[in-house]
Amino acid sequence: AVEIRDLHKSFGKLQVLKGIDFAVDPGQVVCVIGPSGSGKSTLLRCVNLLEEPTSGRVVVNGVELTHRDVDIDAARRGVGMVFQQFNLFPHMTALQNVMIAQRRVLKRDKAEAERIARENLEKVGIAEKCDSYPAQLSGGQQQRVAIARALAMSPALMLFDEPTSALDPELVGDVLTVMRKLAEEGMTMLVVTHEMAFARDVADRVVFMDGGVIVEDGTPEQVIGAPRNERTQTFLRRVL
Ligand code: ATP
Ligand code: MG
Repeated sequence: AVEIRDLHKSFGKLQVLKGIDFAVDPGQVVCVIGPSGSGKSTLLRCVNLLEEPTSGRVVVNGVELTHRDVDIDAARRGVGMVFQQFNLFPHMTALQNVMIAQRRVLKRDKAEAERIARENLEKVGIAEKCDSYPAQLSGGQQQRVAIARALAMSPALMLFDEPTSALDPELVGDVLTVMRKLAEEGMTMLVVTHEMAFARDVADRVVFMDGGVIVEDGTPEQVIGAPRNERTQTFLRRVL
């Protein structure tokens, strides 16, 4: 679903990604871990072209995003993104938040958009909150609305950038449960997270990034359980 070859990204003189190579196969869950500033968010943002790579190839769902003639909007449509901050529209209910892009971007009619919105709100366990506004929802509930909103676009790939790190500890579990369920259903997922238990249990592969390069890439047992690289070991000692 994702193939990244020799990806570089610089902001001015600052080289943030220094040659990233990896792939996420359909149905796989890949977790990206690493210290603050290592380039994890930048990597994710290059996958859905919120950032333009400086060089390298990014292929998503069979479309080479880095090709000059690519229809970026069409390519982005197949990719759902969930951020640390939920970015819901405050003046819209949960249901309206999940409907809006379906209507505007996919041009679904109102009845269909509403049916799909309700389906996905149910899936993330907050069907009864569909008429609530974001301010009336807990952080965990808001994040689940944001996940439902992304799922309603029928993405072939879901990107998560630290989806639980803005949440109170007691609300983290509900969001992780939804993500586990998605993984079990076969959703292709690329997840930046500090939740090592989630990475260990759910990921098919764990990628450790540091300083703009991939230092280690393997199964959770390899990377979290028996890291070979000293930088991975140091990082894990701090977070585990
Ligand atoms: P964190 O764990 O704190 O979220 P991260 O691994 O996601 O960190 P990035 O957000 O990708 O790290 O940032 C990597 C580096 O790129 C940082 O030094 C950051 O300051 C820099 N950077 C990111 N976005 C920009 C930008 N738009 N302009 C300039 N520098 C940027
Ligand atoms: Mg980040």
